[in-house]
Amino acid sequence: MEKRDYYEILDISRGASEGDIKRSYRQMAMKYHPDRNPGNKEAEDKFKECAEAYEVLSDNDKRKVYDTYGHAGLSGQGFSGFSDVNDVFSSFGSIFEDFFGFQQGGGGGGKRRGRKGADLRFDLVLEFEEAAFGVEKEIEYERDIACTVCKGERAEAGGKKTCGTCGGRGQVARSQGFFSVATACPTCHGEGEIVTNPCKPCKGKGRVRDQKKVSVKIPPGVDQGVRLRVSEEGQGGAGGAPNGDLYVFLQVKDSPHFERDGSDLVHTASISMVQAALGTKIAVPTLGNNTVDLEVPAGVQFGHRLTIAGEGIPKLRGIGRGDLWVELKVEVPTKMSKEQKELLQQFAEISGEKVGSGGNGFFSKIFKD
Ligand SMILES: [Zn+2]
Ligand SMILES: [Zn+2]
Repeated sequence: MEKRDYYEILDISRGASEGDIKRSYRQMAMKYHPDRNPGNKEAEDKFKECAEAYEVLSDNDKRKVYDTYGHAGLSGQGFSGFSDVNDVFSSFGSIFEDFFGFQQGGGGGGKRRGRKGADLRFDLVLEFEEAAFGVEKEIEYERDIACTVCKGERAEAGGKKTCGTCGGRGQVARSQGFFSVATACPTCHGEGEIVTNPCKPCKGKGRVRDQKKVSVKIPPGVDQGVRLRVSEEGQGGAGGAPNGDLYVFLQVKDSPHFERDGSDLVHTASISMVQAALGTKIAVPTLGNNTVDLEVPAGVQFGHRLTIAGEGIPKLRGIGRGDLWVELKVEVPTKMSKEQKELLQQFAEISGEKVGSGGNGFFSKIFKD
């Protein structure tokens, strides 16, 4: 595969500052983060590609080589990018710490310590009225938590020894031409220790699958796209670090009666042209399967809106409710009896209006029945 230009990958100019490079990389890494794109091979490749671009451009020496000689210059130095996602994490763990709950252990020569669990996303679909009035929902999902037997240590008690390759530092210095680059130790993968007796219940993984049920209180007035955070109900943390958070993304089903406009509702009611002219009383549906009677005054026009105060959606983080707007659609009859037609023609004559075949004008002669 043809290697893409590093500046193009990060969508920055050739003169980009260190800050620009970092900002752009963080954005890209967040977008293509494996936790956000589970099982998506393309996102994973992008994630690695961005990391590679970042590694080169954030390092002044490497950037100089790249600017002068391009990709060829770097491969001449033995630089080959990242083989897998964990390699990316162990190289720049710190850049992820603000956004996905990743933390790099302080000190210890970069050895991976307790790491906060990743955040999880759950999509919850609500009925229109559940979103309006609030509801409590029990949601069920799977997550990974630290094995309760080994506490995530992957080994039985005393079943680990210090890694001989890195001497327990978790990192090794790799010489690449005139650069010396610290990378995750290939033997212990940055852990600093090797498991000699794996924990049996988790088969040495340190993590087990957990079927989780959580009750989520949805406040009244939420709308499509609202995101609720349930603290520490995401993936389990490692090494005693806290769990990630669970984010519940809300989707709201449409209502057959209402369109929502913030905390106001719009209901479209059809009335006949005669009702529009003379006025009428209609039954309007309201939230909660009720109806209210609404007086429609005489002489309303198509599209006229009447307000029923306080019958809208409860205000999210506020007091009171929005209003219900009733938009009138005036319908003109398409089929009429002979008698109805005659009455309308009389109406037209009295008003002096020229109509269809009933008048004395030019058109009425042509279109006579
Ligand atoms: Zn275990
Ligand atoms: Zn090691």
